Amino acid sequence: MKLLLYSGGLDSTALAWKFRPDIAVTIDYGQRPAAGEIRAASALCGLMNLRHDVLKVDLAFLGIGTLVGTETADIAAASEWWPYRNQMLITLAGMRYVARGLSEIMIGAVASDVHADGKKPFLAAISSAMIAQEGGVQVSAPAIDMDPLDLILGSGVPKNLLGAAFSCHVAEYPCGQCRGCEKHLTTIAALSNRN
Ligand SMILES: [Zn+2]
Repeated sequence: MKLLLYSGGLDSTALAWKFRPDIAVTIDYGQRPAAGEIRAASALCGLMNLRHDVLKVDLAFLGIGTLVGTETADIAAASEWWPYRNQMLITLAGMRYVARGLSEIMIGAVASDVHADGKKPFLAAISSAMIAQEGGVQVSAPAIDMDPLDLILGSGVPKNLLGAAFSCHVAEYPCGQCRGCEKHLTTIAALSNRN
């Protein structure tokens, strides 16, 4: 069973369209935009005819940064940094599905990711750590060498689907100002210019 960690954002929507995972999973780990992510991911999975699960594990009390509404940590590369976030999401998905036939967890990291847990050394290490354990689950990041525009255009995802995507870091509805919204709007503008 191939699983996609699905936030409802542009990058993971392109991966969902291209790779058609057996299951797309949105994790509500206590991040402020969780309701918006779940709404977008659920709607988009409906349109793509993909199975969508929501996993709720409230870890907000362990969070830092814009996703939880606190100051950014000194060691953070960007304001939305949350300690061990991808490690947490991969582990939670693994915990939920490893005994249910899980073979691969796909994550939407792209080349421009500024966080250490969105880069190749971490992704190779976490895949090795998962493979070494029961179930031998592989972690993959098919877009790790791509920028969002190449990923989206290369995936063939219909542009009208992308209107339902959601990337805000701070609220249930797009704030239009955070780094997530900024990247989202920049990518949509770049896509529009390709017409
Ligand atoms: Zn925002």
